[in-house]
Amino acid sequence: ATILRRETCVRGVSRRAAVCGGSIIQRRTFSLQELDEKRGTRERVVILGSGWGGFGLARQLDLRHYQPLIITPRTYFVFTPLLASTAVGTLEFRQAMEHSRSRPGIEVIRAWAEQIDLSKKTVTVEGAVQSKDKVGSVIGDGKQFEVGWDKAVVAVGAFSQTFGVEGVKDHAFFLKDVADARAIRRRILECFEEAALPTASEARKKQLLHFAVVGGGPTGIEFSAELHDLLSDDLTKLYPSLAKYHRITVYDVAPRILSMFDTSLAKYAEKVFSRQKISIKTSHHVHKVNSEAVHTREDGEVLVGCVVWSTGLAPNPFLAKALKGKLQMDERGSKIVVDDHLRASSMDERGSTSWPLDDVFAIGDCASLGGQELPATAQVANQQAIWLGKTLNKAAVRKAAEGKPGPVKVQDEKKFRFRSLGIMAYLGGWRAITQSGSAELKGRMAWVLWRTAYLTKSVSWRNRILIPTLWFTNWVMGRDINRF
Ligand code: FAD
Repeated sequence: ATILRRETCVRGVSRRAAVCGGSIIQRRTFSLQELDEKRGTRERVVILGSGWGGFGLARQLDLRHYQPLIITPRTYFVFTPLLASTAVGTLEFRQAMEHSRSRPGIEVIRAWAEQIDLSKKTVTVEGAVQSKDKVGSVIGDGKQFEVGWDKAVVAVGAFSQTFGVEGVKDHAFFLKDVADARAIRRRILECFEEAALPTASEARKKQLLHFAVVGGGPTGIEFSAELHDLLSDDLTKLYPSLAKYHRITVYDVAPRILSMFDTSLAKYAEKVFSRQKISIKTSHHVHKVNSEAVHTREDGEVLVGCVVWSTGLAPNPFLAKALKGKLQMDERGSKIVVDDHLRASSMDERGSTSWPLDDVFAIGDCASLGGQELPATAQVANQQAIWLGKTLNKAAVRKAAEGKPGPVKVQDEKKFRFRSLGIMAYLGGWRAITQSGSAELKGRMAWVLWRTAYLTKSVSWRNRILIPTLWFTNWVMGRDINRF
């Protein structure tokens, strides 16, 4: 595999920012030619995305057989289950992040994948180093180049679903990345500071300190719970005169929240929220959001200070732009269909027949296993990443032992099977719910399990030490919400 360049780029390894064509390229740069040399006789596995799927896979691959090369617009992995905690200062942003290069031998190009050529085995990418959008997420820098691969793994995840509701993209906050969590934290504090101004009227205080969460799934519920903890534990003490104004409302179009949990657990969650004075408005249709309010069909205009939008997932536009007509997609065109070995299938010119490819895989939120509906969770993406990494390693060893020529193939290895480890959600006030098969747990014990599960799943020792340390110091001294 070779990397074909359209740009004149930097050579050599540098810890300083390097300048190419007047723009910053990368902090730790490598020459594209050098990358080819480093590869040697190994197969290059280009992984698109550094999330649960992509980062997990890169950490698994045996560096004696493969050169993992991650292409990602963000050079870090986000431990998404802890994002809501970082948005309210229970944890710092760094505790939900791991550097994509944390394992020596993983190569990273900070760029967006734009196109993929299955016959030439190249991916066209656009650098994503300098440019940022309004919440600080990186966007493309307009400079494109091509990268060659022996195997490609699509793990680009999904985007936030808005259902085309007017004003959501401009005025609501999503919770998908660290930049989103940072923007939410800043907005919460802005609302409190503005409400604390001597000039703020009663009506304005009520509006600013009304926080709306749209979406009653685990993300919306956990964020509301974490926000409740911040308001009741810390902001009530810092802004005692504003305590009577703040409130949280959760809107959902469905008749109940947490639909993936048993009814009894969802009812328990509602009870806990009602005790915490979090209002739940199910069967409510939000049809418009602007800078001052959410508009629902049932209640009309409701003035708010901040809207957090979490109504599920929309397909990553990369799939439609780069893969439509090339790989088999599900009926809605929102996911790549993969077989039991996580292989994507190529389409013929008319798009009517397809056959599995030995060198293109898809995992995580952007993949659909043989049309089966696996949940879009970190659990699934992580299991797929581990399975694919181990399977590729085994297949490489087998091929070497047999002395077969040609690329590594996985079809003779054991099939992928998802094993559900259960679901859980935090409800605030040190209470949670967990469900695994018919086993259910609620309250404090479930909360202990919730915290233990996420602590043990954390990737680095640094975070495994810092997370409980921060939980403890924040419990004793309150959240350090100055830093944002
Ligand atoms: P992601 O982790 O989203 O990663 C996608 C990667 O692709 C990112 O690095 C992105 O930058 C990159 N990318 C996107 N477009 C391109 C492109 N064009 N080129 C290159 N790279 C690209 N699941 C659980 O099981 N338990 C939980 O408790 C839980 N809590 C969650 C809390 C929150 C707030 C959120 C948002 C999600 C939560 N999830 C949870 C769901 C879980 O995070 C996702 O299912 C999981 O992240 C999917 O992994 P993925 O690798 O498919 O995608």
